[in-house]
Amino acid sequence: MDASRPSRFINAGKPRGIRVSFEFFPPKTAEMEQSLWEAISRLAPLKPNFVSVTYGAGGSTRERTHTTVKRILAETMLTPAAHLTCVAATCAEVDAVIGAYAQAGVRHIVALRGDPLAGAGEKYAPHPGGYRNAADLVAGIKRLADLEVSVSAYPEKHPDSPSVAADIDMLKAKVDAGATRAITQFFFENDLYFRYRDRVRAAGIDIPIVPGILPVQNFKTTKTFAARCGASVPAWLADRFDGLDDDAATRKLIAAAVAAEQVLDLVDHGVTDFHFYTMNRADLVYAICHLLGLRPSTVTGNSARATAEKERA
Ligand SMILES: Cc1cc2nc3c(=O)[nH]c(=O)nc-3n(C[C@H](O)[C@H](O)[C@H](O)COP(=O)(O)OP(=O)(O)OC[C@H]3O[C@@H](n4cnc5c(N)ncnc54)[C@H](O)[C@@H]3O)c2cc1C
Repeated sequence: MDASRPSRFINAGKPRGIRVSFEFFPPKTAEMEQSLWEAISRLAPLKPNFVSVTYGAGGSTRERTHTTVKRILAETMLTPAAHLTCVAATCAEVDAVIGAYAQAGVRHIVALRGDPLAGAGEKYAPHPGGYRNAADLVAGIKRLADLEVSVSAYPEKHPDSPSVAADIDMLKAKVDAGATRAITQFFFENDLYFRYRDRVRAAGIDIPIVPGILPVQNFKTTKTFAARCGASVPAWLADRFDGLDDDAATRKLIAAAVAAEQVLDLVDHGVTDFHFYTMNRADLVYAICHLLGLRPSTVTGNSARATAEKERA
């Protein structure tokens, strides 16, 4: 019997150096705005390392991303990271967005190439006057401001990429340009992550490769989403949700169990940082973080950000 397993739960208050970050998307409607802020309020006391806000395809959410990030800065103790893509925009347009973030007090950007305007799967062509790819964008950000830059990584290969090796070359280019953290596309088989991490390390890349964890809020939606971004959905996962289409309460329990199993296995393999795709909902993510030993802090408000950042340094 593995004696270390029960201690994860029993010694939950004991610091294990686990760090989490949460990803949100900018809301479209007043109702969505309300659920986003309910999720942020619930998750903020867990003192995430940072929270990130996505950027809609082709910059379609530019204003909404900016507004959300600014509100996080103004009303919470959280450290926001703004996602940014270079699709369908000139370098000058993208630079203006970077400048506006820097001026608003944003210190962290998640730099991405982005999907073609016609949608993922279509052939990508950079804007003639724009950044060519994510590595080029990272270099552009670094030229403009001293910001922390995170980038993407794909344990199962990006759908456009000819091979994992080409993917890792791109990751290397992004790191050489100044990226200091990679966040992975979501995956359900941890072995995919471990194998990828080994290959990344063998290529001499030593930045953290933070696993992106997607709690399965809705299995059908997850399957569609996974097909679009080249993530595999194992048969065992489908099996776990089989027959539960009309049973939301059980689905939620299963989703929590699946995600808990995944993150605890990653912890067993030495992973300490986790990035959660929250889909703007707190419950499952909050429960998984609790299981990871994170407890809410009662300190809130803008003034606490400096303390939180100091603690994290
Ligand atoms: C953590 C994370 C956050 C994300 N956030 C957002 C977001 O906020 N908004 C959004 O729109 N999208 C987002 N995406 C999705 C991302 O924009 C798409 O996956 C996009 O297709 C690639 O962008 P990238 O920065 O990952 O690309 P890159 O890192 O530039 O490329 C990914 C891989 O694709 C290959 N590749 C790239 N271009 C080509 C090409 N022309 N020909 C052949 N191979 C090529 C490269 O080998 C590379 O390894 C996110 C993805 C992740 C993992």
